[in-house]
Amino acid sequence: MSQTLSASLKTSEATAKADVVLQQVSKSFEGEIAIRGVDLSVKQGEFFSILGPSGCGKTTTLRLVAGFEEPTTGEVLIQGQNVNRVPAYRRPVNTVFQSYALFNHLSVWENIAFGLRIKGCGKRQVQERVAEALQLVKMESFAQRFPKQLSGGQRQRVALARALVNRPAVMLLDEPLGALDLKLRKQMQVELSNLHRELGITFILVTHDQEEALSLSDRIAVMRDGEIEQVGSPSEIYESPRTPFVADFIGDTNLIAGRVEEVEPAALRVKTAAGLKVLARRLESNQDFKTSQSIYVSVRPEKIRLSLEAPTTHKVNCFAGRLKHIMYLGTHLHFVVELATGDCVTVLRPNRVEQLPDQHAQVYAYWSPKDCLALAA
Ligand code: ATP
Repeated sequence: MSQTLSASLKTSEATAKADVVLQQVSKSFEGEIAIRGVDLSVKQGEFFSILGPSGCGKTTTLRLVAGFEEPTTGEVLIQGQNVNRVPAYRRPVNTVFQSYALFNHLSVWENIAFGLRIKGCGKRQVQERVAEALQLVKMESFAQRFPKQLSGGQRQRVALARALVNRPAVMLLDEPLGALDLKLRKQMQVELSNLHRELGITFILVTHDQEEALSLSDRIAVMRDGEIEQVGSPSEIYESPRTPFVADFIGDTNLIAGRVEEVEPAALRVKTAAGLKVLARRLESNQDFKTSQSIYVSVRPEKIRLSLEAPTTHKVNCFAGRLKHIMYLGTHLHFVVELATGDCVTVLRPNRVEQLPDQHAQVYAYWSPKDCLALAA
């Protein structure tokens, strides 16, 4: 790790107040709305991810921060300054793309030096900064190679070094690991996380990979159809999703449609269409449930337990059923259980059993009300 570069990045003008704020930002392309009314505030030094399905507006949001697009309405602020009219090259940000965007005819060293040369940095400064950036991404011994002589992971490291050499206040990462195979992707995730921790600068990552967002981020914004659906820490997003979309998009869940039978201070009694009676937790922010209202209950597969005998400890949310399907996943077992009412739930259990239960075995599926969330339909 280059102490010099990390120290200078921490203290440079660039990191003085590296927050990014979007206020009511909308962007249309030829009359088609790509994002609408987006409000975001990314804190200095935060690892912030924008997550959502294809076409939801993640890249457009990032490009508005980078300065590659201008908002149709609303304001983009970086370090407190409105940058709507500031061109990309004058913003204290740098972008790393999935495609690496390296110059194939230039060596690794020249690729990293390119931006500094354009800015008119002196020869000595270029030498020092490129050496530091190469060290930071552990690519010193590859300086004289050309991009086509590198693996995907090595190319992405060069792309990172090329962005970091400019000492940005904010690193914008647009699916930077999207082209890598799973194993390399995991390895690069660890390296990205280490880089972020060592440099202390703001990272904004666009990804459609929920596991990547959960494992790397301080906070995540989940987008849907051009709007922000929820912003929160990984555990808030996973444990307390505010909408059925967020519950379903982040991880797997059982979303069961039903109607509210009774509203209690912290819980709801819900009856599913097939007649299952469930006690569900409600989030503090969701205060306006009414009797007979259509809702969903969300229960994560790993929160459901199974037993062959009726459990004595659970009186609510405990249902008889039969195994419909068992899938062996190595570390885990995946079950589909058809309950007596006809409702089906998927269940994920750690693989600790010596012997798998028989297909079609009679079982009890049960879960705690705190693991069962009521969400407005
Ligand atoms: P993906 O994960 O597939 O990259 P995304 O969430 O990043 O998707 P965007 O690339 O931001 O989505 O696109 C949002 C919407 O805006 C899409 O409907 C897209 O077709 C549209 N869009 C984006 N850029 C342009 C453009 N330059 N011209 C016209 N439409 C565009």
